Amino acid sequence: MTDCIFCKIVAGDVPATKLYQDELVTAFRDINPLAPTHILIIPNVHLASANDLAPEHAAAAGRMLTLAPELARQEHIAESGYRLILNTGADGRQEVPHMHLHLLGGRRMQHPLG
Ligand code: AMP
Repeated sequence: MTDCIFCKIVAGDVPATKLYQDELVTAFRDINPLAPTHILIIPNVHLASANDLAPEHAAAAGRMLTLAPELARQEHIAESGYRLILNTGADGRQEVPHMHLHLLGGRRMQHPLG
């Protein structure tokens, strides 16, 4: 999508600190980190939110999820733990309309969710 900031990051048209990219997904550091490690993992294809997930996206969705522990190990937070968040829609407080998985760690998260 031409005016999507995350599509532009995937394409390399907007700078980002990319940690991983392949044919399905891209991972980069959040520009406004809420924890010592705050990474966004996104599908390369434009999906506005998790509501757009369909069976043909299973490979990308699976890659997003399996990449998370790899990045957590790389960031040395796999043992201490982390939180994966997939905000969806207005009530989910999704602000950027390109589906993204937050990987947050390096500090103790607040409990409970919400
Ligand atoms: P959400 O509220 O789940 O939609 O989260 C959107 C996230 O995208 C926020 O944590 C923002 O800080 C982050 N973000 C927005 N623009 C950029 C950007 N250009 N590069 C990296 N992260 C961004």
